[in-house]
Amino acid sequence: MTRTNNLADGQERLVIPPARIAAERAYRVQLMTQRGRLKQLCAELQNMRSDDSVRLDASKITHLEAAAQLENIEARLDSIDLALSRLREGQFGLCVECGNEIPTERLEARPDASLCVPCCQQPRRSR
Ligand SMILES: [Zn+2]
Repeated sequence: MTRTNNLADGQERLVIPPARIAAERAYRVQLMTQRGRLKQLCAELQNMRSDDSVRLDASKITHLEAAAQLENIEARLDSIDLALSRLREGQFGLCVECGNEIPTERLEARPDASLCVPCCQQPRRSR
């Protein structure tokens, strides 16, 4: 008996353990929830920028701050989208630089993390 799966596309893949499938499902839910929340924030900030009549005193946020926040949120959304595509491709939890596994604690703190700790600490940053 062999342990390889012959898939329809002829590729052989390792059998994914059920614990990992469950964990990935949990990460997906977490990512989708964050994504929804950020999209909403994004929309609110965009409204704020386009509407000068918004009472800025009450919200204690300036247009500049709104723009800066919007930029952060958009970057985070990109990062979440990338994490979701890594989930789809079975690459989730692997460092995009070196291919090593990203520690679970790191993924739990930030499921859209794309780098392992050593790669993250390197001075060279792609963005
Ligand atoms: Zn790495």
